[in-house]
Amino acid sequence: MPSATKYSEYLPERPLVGYGMDQPDPHWPGGAKIAVSFVINWEEGGERNILEGDSGSETFIIEHLTRPSRIGGRDDMTESEFEYGGRAGLPRLMRLFKKYNFKSTIYTVAAALERAPYLGPMLVAQGHEIASHGDRWINSMAMSPEEEEEHMHQAIDRLQKYTGDPNVPRGWMIGRRSNASPRLYCRAAKERGLEFLYSSDSYGDDLPYWLESPLASEGEPDEGMLVIPYSLDCNDFRFVVPGSGWSSGEDFYNHLVDTFDVLYEEGLEGRAKMMSVGLHNRCVGRPGRLAAVEKFMQYISTKEGVWVARRDEIARHWREKFPYTVERCQGRML
Ligand SMILES: [Zn+2]
Repeated sequence: MPSATKYSEYLPERPLVGYGMDQPDPHWPGGAKIAVSFVINWEEGGERNILEGDSGSETFIIEHLTRPSRIGGRDDMTESEFEYGGRAGLPRLMRLFKKYNFKSTIYTVAAALERAPYLGPMLVAQGHEIASHGDRWINSMAMSPEEEEEHMHQAIDRLQKYTGDPNVPRGWMIGRRSNASPRLYCRAAKERGLEFLYSSDSYGDDLPYWLESPLASEGEPDEGMLVIPYSLDCNDFRFVVPGSGWSSGEDFYNHLVDTFDVLYEEGLEGRAKMMSVGLHNRCVGRPGRLAAVEKFMQYISTKEGVWVARRDEIARHWREKFPYTVERCQGRML
């Protein structure tokens, strides 16, 4: 095992085989045929802005797709799109989730929560999971590992302060991560005495899977790192990417339903899966897009054996049914 420091890049061998043809039955609670994880990305206020010391304005996941960054200046056209997400989008999404009594995992950018602190305790009280989506919504590759580590601790501080829950976060998804990110958040969680349930920095499967802990190569005991994979295809951000995006709510809805149907069928055959649905306040929180999410919620509400679960619940289930072993890390389940 090569020795590493906490600042080293985390580059495990690529897990290209996984479960192969022996896909395990995840034994979802209640014999469910599918686990559906709704994820709300809460990023508004954590994006690039010269007020935060960045070089220019944000350009990622906005309506005006080709708008360049305004270097050295504020761009209130883009800024106000982000404002919409926090002001109108998130409250609208919350009302929708309440209507269906579905709980989500909220990928929470700590700076976003700090700017709308009234939402923290409310989201926790409504049963949503507060997971970490970084301290700010910026590209971690532009940071040094030392700086990134500082950001992770600050993310923990802010999430705890503004939710009032000293045990958050239990899951991490940085997204635009550096090659050191998973090692750094494993380490930060450990140093802070937090339960580290999962990483969602992967799109690599339709089931949770184990990797060796990034801390093992630092000489720590290998407790494994559970991956709860996320999805960029069942994701509303494709409304606002050039080229291959959704042009209407129908597109998004149809893709969600097709995905659900295929996975549900596999569940009926004894190879149940999980489905991730990625949502953004400023994107699908727009009324013309929200309709697709509501129609999808209605659709899955008509089916038997659907477990709408938070990612921490899926992680706890997996840890109980399939605790970490080196064999499982290599995709073998027995
Ligand atoms: Zn995100």
